[in-house]
Amino acid sequence: MKTVVLKFGGTSVGSIDRIKNVCKIIASYKKKNVKVLAISSAMSGVTNDLVNKSKLISNNFDKAEYDTLVSTGEQASCALIAGRLKHMGFRSRSWMSWQLPILTEGPYSGARISKIVVKELNKYLKSGGIPIITGFQGVNSELRLTTIGRSGSDASAIMLAKFIKAEECIIYTDVDGVYTTDPRQYKNAKKIKKIFYDEMLEMASLGSKVMQPTSVQDAKLNKIDIQVKSSFVKKSGTLITGSSKAFSNQIITGISSTKNDAKITIVGVKDRPGIAASIFKPLSQNLINVDMVIQNISLNGKETDLTFTIKSDDLKKTEKLIKQNKKISYKKLSFDKDVSKVSIIGVGMITTPGITYRMFQALALKKVNILVISTSEIKISVLVSTKNVKKAITVLHKEFKLD
Ligand code: ASP
Ligand code: MG
Repeated sequence: MKTVVLKFGGTSVGSIDRIKNVCKIIASYKKKNVKVLAISSAMSGVTNDLVNKSKLISNNFDKAEYDTLVSTGEQASCALIAGRLKHMGFRSRSWMSWQLPILTEGPYSGARISKIVVKELNKYLKSGGIPIITGFQGVNSELRLTTIGRSGSDASAIMLAKFIKAEECIIYTDVDGVYTTDPRQYKNAKKIKKIFYDEMLEMASLGSKVMQPTSVQDAKLNKIDIQVKSSFVKKSGTLITGSSKAFSNQIITGISSTKNDAKITIVGVKDRPGIAASIFKPLSQNLINVDMVIQNISLNGKETDLTFTIKSDDLKKTEKLIKQNKKISYKKLSFDKDVSKVSIIGVGMITTPGITYRMFQALALKKVNILVISTSEIKISVLVSTKNVKKAITVLHKEFKLD
């Protein structure tokens, strides 16, 4: 008999009616004669509310107590789901992370699941029961509750699928799959039927928020295929996989864009070894995330210009850190707050020449000015002025036949 892991996100269990609906979905699998386990997030808004409460208690709230606090939302949603399934006549019960246990390693609020003991679950499944398991939380070697990062229930489901050796792992959420680009901003966006882990990782880390990036990494490492589906509409979703079976020969799979980026240029810095390190050291010490970086080749061998991007929220702090930095001298500092990164993503570009040219040409025809370029094996990103993002996505979506 096949084993299926279902994961429900916060919006899918966001109200009593929605929880009842989720139980109908779980029941539909049970009727297909499969072993089904469900993992749930907290009802939407609950985790945020708990985070806020911790801040009101102390601006330096204890890290271990923080995890104990914010993981309570999952306990409630799981009990409600199991309770409803019992009401419907099924055998079901909830399991908290520590009851299995789901073992984690690493710091509070950023722990990783190292092992899940599935003995009890297997017994229960065999007897026809439906286990409902808390996402997001685990327990460490000191038997204290831990959490695995915001939106971590995705990773909980993937690790459970691994340890229980499930044939399927289905992530139920509020969108019906992964789209070629943000469907709310661009109406020609199409649902992607199949996407490779690596492409999904790029899409996720570049701002398409369907799945938590670490969970996609876990899926890739453990070769777990993931289906992303909507719990609200009955439609086929997106398969995230590493297998190249039945993939189309699409070159570009998706286009993503970021919001709230800022660009900083330091003009006329001394061109000598160690200068880039001295610029970025204080930024890293202050946990400012630097994204794209370009340095010009200096014409006279003495001075160069350095441009990099950060999140707009960090702009004030970054400006201050550069101005305070006694280790560097420069002629001018300039800032641009309203920039965004637009990226085309696809494993097909590894084997197809000319993609870079096609991207730049398409943007040029629409008079979209490119500020910074960066590439990886499966991604080309350009920084453009935020007002041009929509135009850029539209023309690239057409150029790479995603419409
Ligand atoms: N409830 C947790 C959060 O909001 C975990 C999750 O939703 O996956 O981050
Ligand atoms: Mg969530």
